[in-house]
Amino acid sequence: MSIADNYLRVSEELAAACVEVARDPDDVCLLAVSKTVGVDGVRDAIEAGAVDFGENRPDLLIEKAEEFPDRRWHFIGNIQSRRIEDIVRFSTLIHSLYQEKHAIKIDRCAGKMGKVQDVLIEVNVSGEQSKSGIAPDEAALLLERCETLCNIRVRGLMTMAPQGDLEVARRTFADLRKLAEHLRATLNGEDAKAFDQLSMGMSEDWKVAVAEGSTIVRIGRAVFSENFA
Ligand SMILES: *Cc1c(COP(=O)(O)O)cnc(C)c1O
Repeated sequence: MSIADNYLRVSEELAAACVEVARDPDDVCLLAVSKTVGVDGVRDAIEAGAVDFGENRPDLLIEKAEEFPDRRWHFIGNIQSRRIEDIVRFSTLIHSLYQEKHAIKIDRCAGKMGKVQDVLIEVNVSGEQSKSGIAPDEAALLLERCETLCNIRVRGLMTMAPQGDLEVARRTFADLRKLAEHLRATLNGEDAKAFDQLSMGMSEDWKVAVAEGSTIVRIGRAVFSENFA
C-alpha cells in the first residue's frame, strides 16, 4: 500500500464512519500527521488529495510548510517558548496550547505578524502523568485568559486518549466533548461561535472519536506507515 492509497482508504473509511453515526463527512477534517515522513511522503499524500497536515517539531513544520505553502499546516507538538515565533509563522491551527505564558507569547507574535492565531486548548482528560495538557478543571481559567488576548482565537479543545482500550478512549472523548459544551456556554456571541472544534482521535481510536463528536482526527501511522493494519 502506498501513502496515496492509504490516504484514500482512510478518507473513505472516515466518510463511511460519519454516515454511520449520522454526521456530515464535511464536518470532520482528516489531518494527515506527517511527522514520520519527509517532503516526498507529504507529496504522495497531496496527490491523493490531502489538504491538512500535522507536525510536532518546529523544524519539520518549517521545512514542509515552506515546500508546500498552499496546504494547511497544524502544530500538534510540545510548545517551546523560543520556537513560538516559528510555530505562529507557519501554523493554521495550534492544537497544543495549555500554558498561559505561551498564550501571551503567541498573542504577541501573531500581533506583530498581523494575524489572528487559531488555537486549541490541550486538555489532559485522563490525568495520565505521561500526557501533556491542562487539567479539565483548570481549562475554564485558561480560556478566560485567552479571551482577553486579541490576536488569539480559541477554536476548541484537543486531547489524546490513553492507548489500548477503546472503551476508555470513548469515555475520554465524551468527557472532552462535555467539557467543550460547558466552556462554550460561558462564552458570548462571536467567541462561542468560533469555539466549535474538537481535535480528538488518532490511527487506533479515530472511529470512536468520530462517534463522540470529533471535528479533527489526527492520523499518522494509518496514512504514512507501510504496515499499519
Ligand atoms: C503522532 C501524533 C498523532 C498521530 O498518531 P498515530 O497513532 O500515528 O495516528 C496524533 N496526535 C499527536 C499529538 C501526535 O503526536
